[in-house]
Amino acid sequence: MKLASIIGTRPQFIKASALSRAFQDFAEISECVIDTGQHFDASLSDVFFEEFGMSRPDYDLEIHGGGHGEMTGRMLIALEPVLLREKPDAVLVYGDTNSTLAGALAAAKLRMPIVHVEAGARSADRYMPEQINRVVVDRLSALLFCVTGGSKENLDREGITENVHVAGDLMYDVARAAISSMGEERVAQGLGVTGEYAVLTVHRAENTDNVGRLVEIFDYVKAQAKDASIVFPMHPRTRRAVEDAAIELGNIICTDPVGYHDMANLMAYSSLIFTDSGGMQKEAYFHRVPCVTLRDDTEWPETIAAGWNRLWHTESYLPRVETAAFGDGQAAKKIARIVASM
Ligand code: UDP
Repeated sequence: MKLASIIGTRPQFIKASALSRAFQDFAEISECVIDTGQHFDASLSDVFFEEFGMSRPDYDLEIHGGGHGEMTGRMLIALEPVLLREKPDAVLVYGDTNSTLAGALAAAKLRMPIVHVEAGARSADRYMPEQINRVVVDRLSALLFCVTGGSKENLDREGITENVHVAGDLMYDVARAAISSMGEERVAQGLGVTGEYAVLTVHRAENTDNVGRLVEIFDYVKAQAKDASIVFPMHPRTRRAVEDAAIELGNIICTDPVGYHDMANLMAYSSLIFTDSGGMQKEAYFHRVPCVTLRDDTEWPETIAAGWNRLWHTESYLPRVETAAFGDGQAAKKIARIVASM
């Protein structure tokens, strides 16, 4: 069976590094990889291909920038002829980005079955761009892989019950490998940090597109981190927002975005993680570091229930418990096996 996988953003490169490798164990699957170009900055894309030893995508559409409609529309226009040429038996999309939506729409219009990895994640804000993408893509998909049982329940509530599998989290597969190969060396030391430190990332539009909220977040993080240093690998979108609004970051230690293994090391040796990233809320749990989510809601309530994550407007954590919600680190194998039998 021929599979066209559509990727385009940092977390999608990371997830694809695990799944594309697992596909190689199945002679019956041949994969064609299409990079939309949504994340074009080398620190958000090339670095992951290099560190995970991934081959370059078969197609690089180089589409980025513009509003949601423009970006998604240009992707749709570019994807259609590629899919018509490749004639895949199925089209695989990851997560909840504009690349995910464009890939699913292009495939649906061409009547190609869609495989959605990370299906069923939901947050309360139905107008959040990622939420719109999730709902539409799940509705169009023929085969759905949920990270958690909670995601499957979300799909049940929406009447999507066929060909839904709980596979666990590809991010956990990747994190386990990173944890087992992590040395004593501390990436934070290279940034001049010797004592206790917190890690901060912010990149969601709901935070970066609102100067007042961004300032509120930085003030909050400084107050919560107390005497700990704050290490802040800054997403290009956030850097632009900070520079445009001339926001004063004080003694926050800013860097460019770092590679996956450097980020894993930064998180693992930190005392606290502040983030609006979906993936990093889960990784905080994988590294057993407490997390404060800089959003009003989360699509990963399992991290809150496990007592390692809280929303920034809540005061305390629930009691800590271990959770098996994110699987056993074998998500890629499970997904590949089911796709191979499609
Ligand atoms: N990440 C990284 N370098 C960074 C910041 C994040 O490698 O400087 C990784 C992080 O560890 C996680 C993924 O990127 O695996 C999360 O991506 P992002 O926050 O862009 O997306 P989201 O998870 O919100 O969809």
